[in-house]
Amino acid sequence: MSYIKTEEEIALLRENGILVSKTLAEVGRHVAPGVTTKELDALAETFIRDHGAEPAFLGYNGFPHSLCISVNSVVVHGIPSDYTLKEGDIVSIDCGTKYKGFFGDSAYTFAVGQVSEAAERLMQTTRQSLFEGIGKALAGNRVGDIGAAVQRYVEEYGYSVVREMVGHGIGSRLHEKPDVPNYGRPGQGKQLAEGMVLCIEPMINEGGRGVYMERDGWTLRTADNRNSAHYELTVVVRKEKAELLSTFAFIERPNDIDI
Ligand code: MG
Ligand code: MG
Repeated sequence: MSYIKTEEEIALLRENGILVSKTLAEVGRHVAPGVTTKELDALAETFIRDHGAEPAFLGYNGFPHSLCISVNSVVVHGIPSDYTLKEGDIVSIDCGTKYKGFFGDSAYTFAVGQVSEAAERLMQTTRQSLFEGIGKALAGNRVGDIGAAVQRYVEEYGYSVVREMVGHGIGSRLHEKPDVPNYGRPGQGKQLAEGMVLCIEPMINEGGRGVYMERDGWTLRTADNRNSAHYELTVVVRKEKAELLSTFAFIERPNDIDI
């Protein structure tokens, strides 16, 4: 399988990217104290199906829901449940779509009501680290340039990069090669070429990098029980500047965007 996508394939990935971005915004509008994570999951599933697509995570390796919803010290792959969000929580929501034979995949960490300054800083720093990584997604660079940029940015704040989970290529499969770690060394790893489509997704811990898997076989939680944040976008490697296929604009600037 080629890492390089045709412009026709990229167009289908863009349709998925827009849908997954809109789904996250729809879910985000309902993030509030008193809402259960299962309710958010149901909203996402309905929204995706109403757009003629399928939730890509539902049934993926047996995952039981449409969203991964990871609260506070859960890094990723939290299973929607009867847990009721409370003021001060941070909630990482990861969403996947399948539409016209291609996939979309994006994630965002939302504040539930008013959060602590420390939580706000973790979220902002993780979000910015994603864009530091995206800035390196250029033809001729290497995968390690992306990871090194993310790592350098967050470690200056005393945060740590989760090693167990990484970003990935995406196409007619949800997870394709190459792996895109959020750590690394500049100039190392697979070389990037125009038309590669990557999901870059830093998972950043406020404390140590250690994580463990809960007994459910999905939930990945920080070993020190401190918070973790997760942001993900899908991008096309280009020569001058990576092209975004998904966007946070529907979440952050809903009145400003017209797609
Ligand atoms: Mg994802
Ligand atoms: Mg992903």
